Amino acid sequence: MSREALTSVKTVPVLLPLALPAPYDYLVPEGTELHPGDFVVVPLGPALRLGVVWHESSGRAVDPAKLRAVESHFDDVPPLPEISLRFCDWVANYTLTPPGMVLRMMMSASKAFEAPAIRFGVRAGGPEPERMTPARARVLEAAASGMIFRKSELAEMAGVSGGVIDGLVSTGTLLQEVLPDPWEAPFDLTGENVQLSDLQSGAAKELCANTDDGFIVTLLDGVTGSGKTEVYFEAIAQTLKAGGQALVLMPEIALTGQFIARCERRFGAKPAEWHSGMTSNMRGRVWRAVANGQAKFVVGARSALFLPFPDLRLIVVDEEHDQGYKQEDRVTYQARDMAVLRGNLGQCPVVLSSATPSIESIVNVQAGRYRHIKLESRYAQATLPDIETVDMRKSPPERGRWLAPPLVKAVEETLEDGQQALLFLNRRGYAPLTLCRSCGYRFECPNCSAWLVEHRFRRRLECHHCGTFIPVPEECPQCGAEDSLTPCGPGVERIDEEIAERFPDARRIILSSDQLTGIEELRRTLREIEAGEADIIIGTQLVAKGHHFPGLALVGVVDGDLGLTQADPRAAERTFQLLSQVTGRAGREAVKGKGLIQTYMPDHPVIQALVQGDRDAFLAREIEARRDAEMPPFGRLASILISSSLRDRAETFARDVARAAPPANKIEVLGPAEAPLAIIRGRYRYRLLVKAAREADLQNYIRLWLQNAPKPRADLRLVVDIDPYSFL
Ligand code: ADP
Ligand code: ZN
Repeated sequence: MSREALTSVKTVPVLLPLALPAPYDYLVPEGTELHPGDFVVVPLGPALRLGVVWHESSGRAVDPAKLRAVESHFDDVPPLPEISLRFCDWVANYTLTPPGMVLRMMMSASKAFEAPAIRFGVRAGGPEPERMTPARARVLEAAASGMIFRKSELAEMAGVSGGVIDGLVSTGTLLQEVLPDPWEAPFDLTGENVQLSDLQSGAAKELCANTDDGFIVTLLDGVTGSGKTEVYFEAIAQTLKAGGQALVLMPEIALTGQFIARCERRFGAKPAEWHSGMTSNMRGRVWRAVANGQAKFVVGARSALFLPFPDLRLIVVDEEHDQGYKQEDRVTYQARDMAVLRGNLGQCPVVLSSATPSIESIVNVQAGRYRHIKLESRYAQATLPDIETVDMRKSPPERGRWLAPPLVKAVEETLEDGQQALLFLNRRGYAPLTLCRSCGYRFECPNCSAWLVEHRFRRRLECHHCGTFIPVPEECPQCGAEDSLTPCGPGVERIDEEIAERFPDARRIILSSDQLTGIEELRRTLREIEAGEADIIIGTQLVAKGHHFPGLALVGVVDGDLGLTQADPRAAERTFQLLSQVTGRAGREAVKGKGLIQTYMPDHPVIQALVQGDRDAFLAREIEARRDAEMPPFGRLASILISSSLRDRAETFARDVARAAPPANKIEVLGPAEAPLAIIRGRYRYRLLVKAAREADLQNYIRLWLQNAPKPRADLRLVVDIDPYSFL
């Protein structure tokens, strides 16, 4: 190639959604114009790959003669907005993940890159069929409004099979029409049907003030049932009125159903939804609609933060304290923290909403970094539940039972008053341990250092870490004794059994992830509870989150001590949040609510704070303890988890990595120590903990360290988790 040709050669960096450290350079074909954010297809090895034209160069000088050319480019897919490119780099840097892996999350909607299928719905409008049947009549009745329905939706409404609908299409009675997407319906932003209380409207005014100035984080801190949602709806309305995009993050997809219905009531149209439970077609449609700015209002799980919003002007993180925001596989990130970062990058306001804010957010308020808006009482007549303890040392349950007499009596009274009771135990299955009475044998997972949990409903013993299960055996595998296997301790199924014996006429529902087949069934169950179709609900932490059950008067916590004994810097905080949230489900409307906590440690500060409703005292104590120990948010942590199928190999490698840690001021490397869950899926686990002062550059330290440390080879694995939440 001549010198002239060389200088006129145009190249672009292209980032691929793979675990690569940087973009690669490609030649731009003659006559093609490419811009950062454009989706392109490029050759990589023998394959063609979808990638994105990056905004920053690869930083490598490569001889253009060796470069390959961009194969093709998508001009009908909206490009990734510039802000997404910067966000990707930021998240990658922060979490110490290859940027390509973050990009992969950003484009996890493969159907967005195919021509969108046109979806047809049906609408009544044609002549009546010659032959009318009862089923057909039901369809016509259901479709009488003249609105357009999805076929399956109409079939379900009319209680007929899809064939009946197709029949009515072929007779011309139902007309096929292009189905609009939810985001094509206009929002009602007049706010005519909204009546805020004085307290709420004061809070809403404050929240909506200064939002034009760009980045500002507000902690919306209100007791359960105070109407935080109503308040941030005002901020959403303001954003939508101005034509911007608004995003609400939820910690759990189970919550999105009830929430979307509520948005529809408030705004007269549905927001777009985003979570892993959607069909890939729908994900593709939503992704495109967000990218081209059509979808203005999005509600989703943590991954929605990575959607390609070109004009995001408000982010709400609902239940900001929830651990569901921490993603632990592939890219490990804390979505609440990343939401604040995204707000900062895009200069848009962020609202963190919770009745039990995280210590991190409270400390940020105290330091003046976040604005604080408080709602200290419940909406309308509803008052906060009274919380009492049941001292299990003084009034223990009968042998083989788990509910102490005062709790049983309270349930009885609740049922007599025609109200609902909820029993909370954060443990799935029937019993957490099964042992043999004759020889003492205990059922343990063959792949993990964990007991097998009996699930009576499914008739098997299961490992909650790797999913291994065996049928419940008839005899002890060690001594052969028959009828000697004894379940130890309760799970929700066992509580359900006790309730069934004690209250045979009560209608019961177990709310536990393993009892439900999927998100649809969960939503249906939640609606049933809401509609009062159950008297007693027995649930795991699935019930603690944000649900609104109008008839619920009593919440009984079966084991208040469960979370307190864990060796985890956030154990006390988490227990406090969980128990306040779960007891906060009671008495959200007219009925007076009550919370009863069974505990062997009624004097424990966490339990005391709950009983006295003294959140501030608890927070003050907890913050002091964290400050003294230089634990987050006063210090920073990172965890490095090393695993291998061989114990020695894992341990030796962990030591070698630790030895390579350079000395540094204000950064300390602890370990390696065998992880509390020493084996998972047959892999031995060792953990190093990096503890740093707040001002230290933790990421850079780890980056340099790992560059010079031995590399994990063979079946060794090394996973870095910045700001870890799990220490097991
Ligand atoms: P929080 O999110 O603080 O727990 P919610 O926003 O869910 O509280 O409100 C609790 C209940 O009170 C909901 O059923 C909600 O519809 C109702 N509510 C709160 N504020 C109002 C209001 N201004 N008008 C009508 N209903 C309200
Ligand atoms: Zn296991």
